[in-house]
Amino acid sequence: MSSSLQAFYQSACVQDLLYTIQQLSQSLTQQMSRPLRLMVLCGPQTLLIEEYQLKAHLPPSVEILQGFGLAAWSLPIDRLNHAITLAERPNVILAATQDTMRIRGSKRTLIDVQRTGANIHEVASADEAFHLAVAHPDQQVVYFAVGFEDYAALTAQTIQSAAAQSIDNFSVYCNHTSIIPALKAVLDSPILMVDGFIGAADIPQVTGLQPYEFLADSYHKPIVIAENSPLAILQAIVILLRQRLERRNGVETQTTFNQTGDSTKMQAMMEVLEPRDFYEWRGMGSIDYSGLKLRTEYEQFDADIVFDLPKLKIADPHSAQCWAILSGVKKPCECKVFGASCNSELPMGTFMTSPNGACALAHAAVLNPSPSLCAR
Ligand code: SF4
Repeated sequence: MSSSLQAFYQSACVQDLLYTIQQLSQSLTQQMSRPLRLMVLCGPQTLLIEEYQLKAHLPPSVEILQGFGLAAWSLPIDRLNHAITLAERPNVILAATQDTMRIRGSKRTLIDVQRTGANIHEVASADEAFHLAVAHPDQQVVYFAVGFEDYAALTAQTIQSAAAQSIDNFSVYCNHTSIIPALKAVLDSPILMVDGFIGAADIPQVTGLQPYEFLADSYHKPIVIAENSPLAILQAIVILLRQRLERRNGVETQTTFNQTGDSTKMQAMMEVLEPRDFYEWRGMGSIDYSGLKLRTEYEQFDADIVFDLPKLKIADPHSAQCWAILSGVKKPCECKVFGASCNSELPMGTFMTSPNGACALAHAAVLNPSPSLCAR
């Protein structure tokens, strides 16, 4: 263990939290005959859990499951292929965020095609892509838009700016997703084994907490919105354990933010974007209304239309079993394609695409297999 990790686990605050988790989970074993299964929805929190080895410090009666993580990890293969095609067009600059650069399409990543001469600029935001378009009026700049509502709102505001300034060399290849339909699909899964959720404030500080209330009201599942820090994740686990012991299911927060959301951003998002009837998630199949697209009024900024991208959808292979991993009912090596057609070189599914995904970690250990990988 590194010295910084040692310092983290030796701090009084962390030791107190781990002791509290231990005590609460012992009480819970009188109510439950199996571990309490908590799904972490946010990508950065998922990465922190691995970086701080939090799972190894929790009692066996508390299990942490990986949720959707970063939206880029769930990008369907055919949408990546289209982004690569766009980047290879003459006179096009593809403006892509760092998260998308290493995600593989059928064969190649954006980094691969950038090395062979495709004009790809790494940008941090839609606004930066927009300024790239202003600076290069002789080129078509396409923003490869990925992310949940927090990023979708920023894209919508940028499109409104482009419309107001009559910029005609900027468009958006829209792959934004909405967390609420995705969560509903998780909860409607007949194989679901999740008892509660931990999420970050990034999305609710745009949408507000109200859209999350269905979790507790209709599905009787609690959620805690927490900061992106290992300490906050431990505090969220304490809150969820207390809720379970008190037989409550609520939407609670570990951190402070405007719980009513950002009405300006929500307004922009509703004016510019609308749900797609269906949208494919990498290795998980289609989730109705979970994808977002540009409304007809803004179609001059829609790269799907501007570049007449093929409508034909190449569904991700049916053999992928990411849904079973997400639902917590299978281990990575129980997936039929684990290590075969889905491997770290050619990741087919979300959990191999994510660098700290359950399948990526299991495959990294495949040369030195641990019995625990397949232990049920
Ligand atoms: S090995 Fe993992 S990431 Fe790959 S398809 Fe199967 S479940 Fe999905």
